[in-house]
Amino acid sequence: MSTTTTSRSPQMSPHSQQIASGVFEVAHPLIECHLTALRDQSTSPLSFRAHVRRLATLLAYEATQDLLIEQVPVTTPLTKTTGGKLAQRIGLVPILRAGLGMVDPVLDLIPTAEVWHLGLYRDEDTAQPVEYYSKLPPDHPVDVALVVDPMLATGGSMLAALETLRTWGVTQVKLLSIIASEEGIKNVEAEFPDTQIYVCKIDPDLNDVKYIVPGLGDAGDRIFNTLD
Ligand code: URA
Repeated sequence: MSTTTTSRSPQMSPHSQQIASGVFEVAHPLIECHLTALRDQSTSPLSFRAHVRRLATLLAYEATQDLLIEQVPVTTPLTKTTGGKLAQRIGLVPILRAGLGMVDPVLDLIPTAEVWHLGLYRDEDTAQPVEYYSKLPPDHPVDVALVVDPMLATGGSMLAALETLRTWGVTQVKLLSIIASEEGIKNVEAEFPDTQIYVCKIDPDLNDVKYIVPGLGDAGDRIFNTLD
């Protein structure tokens, strides 16, 4: 039985658009529908969470198509044949707190993934991201990190997260966001050109308090029902 690893090379479904070398906007009719419901200010927290889960599943499906597979034997009720299992250690890295909304759907697809939470907030005085939670071990980095955060706004927190993963020694990082701003994507590309970015939609603007426009508001507040 061969144990060679294989991967599919295309990183885009026919519906998706490659915006730049490592940036993929995963256009799909289902994504359009769920994203529209997310944007709608009248969507309840219950529905909001469900749409986040659906979009995270679709993003993860797209972002994981080049994972390496190891051939393994499998015995069906009828015969012996060959199947595949993941040949890489996958780390799922939610950025607290909104990233938590994307964890379960990705874990459903990759039950063996390790979940490494990263907590970051923006210091109001310095406008710099401050890491307040990270329990990454000092060595043995995962082979592939899937960083999940529904909103990539300025990219400040994401850059700090990517720096943390670089320090850990992760060599392949994929970022999954439901909506990204053009500015956020540019900032990540500039500092981490090898990071692949998968998004459902790229929105053009940030407002004066750095919310994405048109966006969907505060994803964490809408997921956790903490709107005033
Ligand atoms: N975080 C959010 O939740 N929404 C934005 O628009 C920007 C950052």
